[in-house]
Amino acid sequence: DEDLTLLDRELDEDDDAAPEAPLPVLAVVGRPNVGKSTLVNRILGRREAVTEDKPGVTRDRVSYPAEWAGKNFTLVDTGGWEVDVAGIEARVAEQAEVAIELADAVVFVVDAVVGPTATDERVVRLLRRSGKPVVLCANKVDGASGEADAQTLWSLGLGEPYPVSALHGRGTGDLLEAAVKALPEKSAHGELRPEGPRRVALVGRPNVGKSSLLNKVAGSERVVVDEIAGTTRDPVDELVLLKGQPWWFVDTAGIRRRVHQTRGADFYASLRTQAAIEKAEVAVVLLDASVPMTEQDTRVISQVVDAGRALVIAYNKWDLMDEDRRRYLEREFDRELVQVQWAPRVNVSARTGWHTDRLVPALERSLGSWDKRIPTGRLNAFLGDLVAEHPHPLRGGKQSRILFATQASTRPPRFVLFATGFIEAGYRRFVERRLREEFGFEGTPIEISVRVRE
Ligand code: GDP
Ligand code: GDP
Repeated sequence: DEDLTLLDRELDEDDDAAPEAPLPVLAVVGRPNVGKSTLVNRILGRREAVTEDKPGVTRDRVSYPAEWAGKNFTLVDTGGWEVDVAGIEARVAEQAEVAIELADAVVFVVDAVVGPTATDERVVRLLRRSGKPVVLCANKVDGASGEADAQTLWSLGLGEPYPVSALHGRGTGDLLEAAVKALPEKSAHGELRPEGPRRVALVGRPNVGKSSLLNKVAGSERVVVDEIAGTTRDPVDELVLLKGQPWWFVDTAGIRRRVHQTRGADFYASLRTQAAIEKAEVAVVLLDASVPMTEQDTRVISQVVDAGRALVIAYNKWDLMDEDRRRYLEREFDRELVQVQWAPRVNVSARTGWHTDRLVPALERSLGSWDKRIPTGRLNAFLGDLVAEHPHPLRGGKQSRILFATQASTRPPRFVLFATGFIEAGYRRFVERRLREEFGFEGTPIEISVRVRE
């Protein structure tokens, strides 16, 4: 079949596609009001100011895809997330610690007009201890007369201060060149190895029971990592035996070490969640069955889907449930989670251990779907029938037709439809639904894109 041969060549099929490895992470840290958000906006090349955000308003994003001098990286903006003004100085260093830990390189912003403060010195000590590459930004040097201010920052012992005006753009090119040079090719945190034990992220908002569940399942069966061949260990990951099989639980340090319940803590929790999801192949999103779902819960689920990772939803604290609450939950699940009806769901109790043995089968089902490949022939036989029975709606006297399709990758499954014209979003969703019915992609997001052929 000539068309299909052409197609395969065009798509450059990759049978065991690894999920995209996380990009290196550049974090911008510093005291409040030194100009971090202004700098971030400049790097992202947009003027619509994050600085306009009202303080205390929870932002959706914790990190942004960025590019400088041809290098792609993830930019973490800690500006605007700070805790209440009272007690702020005491908290800054502590809060910066998480961002520093998750970063591959750091831009440390200091207000050159104010000069180094005691809080700056505290952050410097953290930066030194981390061993991460640091580029020192002497901000608010708006003109040549400010250059002398920048020079005083040599005293911080972080090397050359880069005089910058984030506001006007002065000096930002040199600063970023240095920062990008300090970044490794790939994030040191997120090396995704296709071999070895599979990687699980246990995520969910604070207090849903992540650390309780981890303690329960990790139990007494401690694993000596060296016994498993080919494993190089990231110190924040933990190897856990579930029914005798090893699994990597990624970024468990973030689960075990409780972050202080301050407003800023939300941000660091999201940041950790994002990093853990990107490192994992499958995420268990833990929800607290004893309280109503919140926007934060849905956001975590979206983070998993958007990252293209396999998903298991676990309702914890099931020991607190009564019959009414159970019935209510069934309805809530249907309503709140329509977007992820395909995700396997387990009810557990981290406290008693009830049903925690159901996690492994759910993880395996989701990963099986995530890895699954549908042969091109089978896919097209199925689509041929589907299209004949339910053609794309007629629009403006024209009818788009799907000519054929192929699965371009696994992990997660990605399909490309070749069509004669525009395929509406509704029809795409219909195709996705039928694909799921036919091939059973339980537990994995699937992506469908369309290419229009003349
Ligand atoms: P953040 O709290 O560290 O994120 O600081 P912001 O980016 O919100 O900036 C705090 C204030 O400093 C704002 O009023 C900015 O307009 C101002 N600012 C930021 N960068 C510069 C700069 O390079 N020069 C001057 N003069 N002001 C700046
Ligand atoms: P994390 O912040 O997500 O790590 O949550 P924790 O594991 O610290 O749990 C938060 C609180 O919920 C603690 O008081 C736990 O004892 C409690 N908890 C966790 N799992 C369960 C459970 O299955 N049942 C009940 N009743 N309480 C639980």
